Parts: sequence; structure tokens; C-alpha cells
Amino acid sequence: MSNPSTTSAPLVVIVGGGPAGLLAAQHLAEAGLRVQVFEQKATVGRKFLVAGHGGFNLTNGEDIAPFAQHYGAAAPFFARALAHFSPAALRQWAADLGIGTFVGTSGRVFPDAQHKPADLLRAWLRHLQDLGVELRTRHRWLGFVGERGLRFCNEATGAAFVVEPDATLLALGGASWPQTGSNGHWTTFLQEIGIPCQPFAPSNCGAEVTWSSFFKEKVGRAPLKNIALSCGGHTVRGEIMLTDYGLEGTPVYALTPQLRAALAAGAPAWLHLNLKPNLGPTDTQRRLARRRPGESLASFLGSAFSLKAPVPTLLRELNAPADLGAALTALPIPVMGLRPLDEAISSAGGIPFSEVDANLMLRRRPDTFVAGEMLDWEAPTGGYLLQGCFSTGAWAAKAISQNL
Ligand SMILES: Cc1cc2nc3c(=O)[nH]c(=O)nc-3n(C[C@H](O)[C@H](O)[C@H](O)COP(=O)(O)OP(=O)(O)OC[C@H]3O[C@@H](n4cnc5c(N)ncnc54)[C@H](O)[C@@H]3O)c2cc1C
Repeated sequence: MSNPSTTSAPLVVIVGGGPAGLLAAQHLAEAGLRVQVFEQKATVGRKFLVAGHGGFNLTNGEDIAPFAQHYGAAAPFFARALAHFSPAALRQWAADLGIGTFVGTSGRVFPDAQHKPADLLRAWLRHLQDLGVELRTRHRWLGFVGERGLRFCNEATGAAFVVEPDATLLALGGASWPQTGSNGHWTTFLQEIGIPCQPFAPSNCGAEVTWSSFFKEKVGRAPLKNIALSCGGHTVRGEIMLTDYGLEGTPVYALTPQLRAALAAGAPAWLHLNLKPNLGPTDTQRRLARRRPGESLASFLGSAFSLKAPVPTLLRELNAPADLGAALTALPIPVMGLRPLDEAISSAGGIPFSEVDANLMLRRRPDTFVAGEMLDWEAPTGGYLLQGCFSTGAWAAKAISQNL
């Protein structure tokens, strides 16, 4: 295989060795360009590996049209980017690296059980090496210089230097889990060239509820399964976890945009919990009518609704409405805040889409493109985050290779 680094091919510098940057590096090297990836940490793909600690959702089995709707205001752009590098293309990419995938019952796409995320990253890095992609780890980007230049610091030697590539792709990530390298410090460098970044905010994170000491002691951590949670006209089903600081779980994460908007108007923001989303109103009323005089709440909820601990304690803690039907199907939960950015799965904020053109090139700096979580979009967990990063990386790479 020819190694583009030894040819006089145009040079593309990619800053940030996460999934968006590395996929762009692969596509650009496959297009015959010389590619250098600069990453401030000692290794690339740290957040990609962290994503693998829980259920590692590479993407989702949903069709592209409904898939794109998960990106909120950025949906029209994502519909195009997903058509270019689709969930099916992502699965094929993993298969080409020797990693099979399967679609779980929830639609989430996981690597086959025998493959760890580190296996995928290792196979990927081998492929990038074969393609001649030059990885420069422990190199921190320090900002722009002149019309084309990028200033870096070699963290091993402390030496600063400038590179003047033919095109640049910034793929520096968002601002959650800063220990993985995605610390959001880059906003300063974009602001220096007149790009106003949206402040970062936690996305896909837990919600804070001020429980009494009694509740924390009695309940501790406890799951509530097969529930539905609503906020701001959106309802999400799934399982939540009661914790000593509030709530965690997929439905809570998915509602962070609505909670953030409601909290901006003042705390508390209200979540409404439906403990029996599969029961219709008639069925609920029929079961409520079965309660015998003198029967305790705990015993009645257990026998009529199969609702056991900690539900009775939760209803008491939240001063549930006297109307038990309302309490079971729309229990108001006061949320005082979101968990900190450092622990969030992803972040909202970053470079507004108004600052890039249709190819993801910065309007204020020709030949400089952006991809991944550093753009101001958010999406729920379930494979939408990684797919969004891969698709934007592939989209920017296509534009760069066409330009060069
Ligand atoms: C706990 C957790 C679980 C997750 N689970 C999933 C999941 O199951 N499915 C899913 O789809 N998504 C998941 N995600 C989200 C997913 O990992 C991210 O959306 C994705 O990694 C973002 O990719 P990126 O390429 O945009 O940026 P990142 O992966 O954040 O990479 C950016 C890189 O840029 C580097 N960088 C930053 N500044 C500089 C600088 N000045 N100089 C040089 N380098 C710099 C950073 O060190 C970093 O390596 C999870 C995230 C977390 C934290």
C-alpha cells in the first residue's frame, strides 16, 4: 500500500483524536491525502473507550428519517450527513475492521459480545497506520496563526511550533468527562477569530432532586422499571434509578433539553412520572376501585398494581396527590438542577451551525472544517451521539477531499 506521507499529496491536519477526527483521517487517507492527527492526550479515542464501559451503542438500527429527528434543530443537516455515512455504513465499517455488530431489542447497535471496544479501537488504529496516517499524540493545539497556521505544543518536550496545512479539520469534542481530553478549552481560540461559541451545558445527565434524609437512608439506590417520564410535552419510557442526589437513567437523560429549558425559567422544573404506562385509564380506575377499607397503601399497590418498595415511600416523599390515579400516572417530581458537566455523557453548546457552511467549513476561516461534538448539537443516548460524530467526520472529509 502506498504511504501518502512519503508523497507530495496535500497535507490535512486533524486536531482531536476522537471518533469524528479518526474517521475523517481514515476517509482522507483513503482519498490519497497526507493526514496528520494531533491529539493532546498520550493516546487517542479515550472518550470512545469510556463509552464502551457501559452498554457500548455504536449506532441505532432506526431508519435515517426518524434517526435524523433526534438531532433537534440540526435535524435537516443530519439527514444529509446520515445519508452520506449511514448507520448501515457504520456497521459495515466495523465489520471491515473485523468487528461484527448486532441490533439489540431497543434498536441500539452493539459490537458482538466477544469484542471489547478496545479491540475495535486497536483494529482501527492498525488500519490508520497501514494507510499512512501520522498520529502525533501529546500535542496540544494552542490556536490559529496567520491565514493557514496552527500552533501546537509538544507536551513531551515543551517545544511550540507552527504547522501550515492545506486544510484543517478541528474535531476537539465537547466538554463533558474532561479527563478524557474533551475539556472545551478550545472555545477561546475560536473566539479569538470572532466565532462566538454557545456556552457548554450538560446533556444526557442525571437530574437533582432534594430528597429528605429519611428517604435517602430508606431507599438509597433503587430502580423503577417500565415507567414513563414526561417533561415539556415529551414522554420517554424506560427504567430510571433513584439515587441519593436525584434520578439517573435513559428517560432522564433523554429529557435533559426539556429540563434545561424549564430550569432556565426557574427551579424547580417538573418531571411527571407514570408508574404504570401500559395501563389504560379504564383499567387503572377498575383496579383503584378494588381497594378494601382499611387496606394499607403498600399492600394495595402491591396486590392491585404489582408496585412494591420503594413506590409507597416515594409517593409519601413527594406528597403525592390524594387522587391515587393521578399519583400513579403523573406523579410530579421537582427537579432542582442537572448534574455537573464533568459527569454528563455529552454536552450541548459549542460552535453554532450558523458559523459553518453546508460542508462544515468555518465561514470565518476558509479551509478549516469542524466535526463531532464540538458543533452545537445534542442527541439522546442510544447510538445517536457516536453516529453523529462519525457522520459529521465523514461529511467534512468528503468536502475536504473534494476541495483539495
Ligand atoms: C460515559 C460515556 C458513555 C458514552 N456512551 C456512548 C454510547 O454508548 N453511544 C454513543 O453514541 N455515544 C456515547 N458517548 C458519547 C461519545 O463518546 C462522544 O459523543 C464522542 O466520543 C465524541 O466524539 P468526538 O470525536 O466529537 O470528540 P471526543 O471523543 O471528545 O474527542 C476529542 C479529542 O480532542 C482532543 N482535544 C481536545 N482539545 C485538544 C487540543 N487543544 N489539542 C489537541 N487535542 C485536543 C481530546 O483530547 C479528545 O481526544 C458516551 C460518552 C461518555 C462520557
